[in-house]
Amino acid sequence: MKIPKRPTVIIRSCPTYDTAAIERIIGEGLETLDVTPYGRTLVKPNLVAAGEFFPHAHTRPEFGEGVLRALRDRGGEQIEELAVGERCGITIPTRMAFRDSGFSEMIGRLGGIKHYYFEESSQVEIPLTHPQRLRDYVFTPEPVAQADFFVNLPKFKAHPWTTVTFSMKNYIGIQDDRHRLIDHDHRLNEKVADLQHIIQPQFIAIDAITAGEGRMLTPTPRDLGLIIMGNSQVAFDSVCCHIIGIDPLSVDHIRLTSEYGFGSTDLADIDVTGDVPLEEAQDRAKGFEVGLIRVKEYFEGTSISAYAGPPPDEEHSNYCWGGCPGSIEEAIEILRQYDEETDEKMPRLHVVFGNYKGDIGAGPGEKVVFIGDCCQWQGKLDGDLVQIKSTYTERAAKDPHEARHDDIYSKMLSINSQMGKARKATHVRIEGCPVSVAEQALALVHLGKLKNPYLDPSQAIAFNKSYLSWRGRTTLNRLMGKKYQRHGSYASRGQAQPELPKSETDE
Ligand code: SF4
Repeated sequence: MKIPKRPTVIIRSCPTYDTAAIERIIGEGLETLDVTPYGRTLVKPNLVAAGEFFPHAHTRPEFGEGVLRALRDRGGEQIEELAVGERCGITIPTRMAFRDSGFSEMIGRLGGIKHYYFEESSQVEIPLTHPQRLRDYVFTPEPVAQADFFVNLPKFKAHPWTTVTFSMKNYIGIQDDRHRLIDHDHRLNEKVADLQHIIQPQFIAIDAITAGEGRMLTPTPRDLGLIIMGNSQVAFDSVCCHIIGIDPLSVDHIRLTSEYGFGSTDLADIDVTGDVPLEEAQDRAKGFEVGLIRVKEYFEGTSISAYAGPPPDEEHSNYCWGGCPGSIEEAIEILRQYDEETDEKMPRLHVVFGNYKGDIGAGPGEKVVFIGDCCQWQGKLDGDLVQIKSTYTERAAKDPHEARHDDIYSKMLSINSQMGKARKATHVRIEGCPVSVAEQALALVHLGKLKNPYLDPSQAIAFNKSYLSWRGRTTLNRLMGKKYQRHGSYASRGQAQPELPKSETDE
């Protein structure tokens, strides 16, 4: 895949989730961009979370259907395999996200379309060679590495850790959990930029018909009535930023990816076309709320007091935007969906992140929770001296080959045991880097005696069924020796890796 020297971004009006209209608009977009799907064509939606409690977190199935129909119509016989693949978030089996989002039903109804639950696929090692890389290789599921024609189908949303989640951030779902959580910390934006080296989409279409403001799992719906299409990640995300009135260079993963040679963020270098002028799209998105909020401010006015010191490598950032502090914000948002009394039930609680040097205003009987490997603090709690030392492991010492995935049941056992042991103590330490959204949700469930979303009666049967199918499939893969493959995706497809803007762009 070459990065177009002069990319195009198309902004189209589409007021409702009318599949026929979406199909027509996408078909016209493919034609304008002069791209035709072929070979193994893989569509990657954003299904981070779905179902009754997360109606606006994901790419809608009507949108996916319109895109799949248009791709099939344009590619015809040239398509060997048309598939949809994703790894959803919050430790839920992707099978469930497919089911709850309506993608399973839609794919079944269309017929002839494969699905890939990425955590059940074998993983392929992709070497990275660009000088700014966080590590020398990353893993991605085999269907991504082997895709000939890759379609990125994100949802237009705010994001509490990376400001926005448009096209590039959707790549966090092209890794299974154990690899996704590596570097999912204060270097998250660099990780997202590194993932761009795995594959570049020939076609991008974002579901901005109903966008999501404020947060990423439980956003406030905002009707924009837009479908935006493009053929370059940086150009695409830059135009989306301009639509909501923010500078693309202020979003680190966009700026970094541009610096890595994936194209310019400058509107003067991008052909912006379609039936909605940029100014009108900006009018529709006026006042769009993005998500970046520090944990201390987020919890103000609640029974939780949060304290955040800097993470390691303070020269990169004085706040861990991609790790533990953001995860607790998403965790409490999930819990509020499942238990309306979350805030009332929560006892006075203090949560501490990073190398925090200030006071903790904990009164008698108020628990202090130190979260994350990098957490450090020293002081008195209820008259006793408490010393929390960092257990942070340097990045270079974390080998993705050795990455382990703890499923939700082992996480439940581990958190319950840690909380149980600390029942009478002034404080408890939860280790991990990051401590995931799921783990922090489980800790809060324990501390606040809240409803456990993972055991919610409306979900329990489907969850267990999906969980057992997933574990069954991964066990089978292991028995068949399908754990890892090693080869670079670009090399294996006979394509050049898009490292340099000059030598690799279309002339
Ligand atoms: S332990 Fe948590 S807060 Fe610390 S660097 Fe890792 S992800 Fe960030």
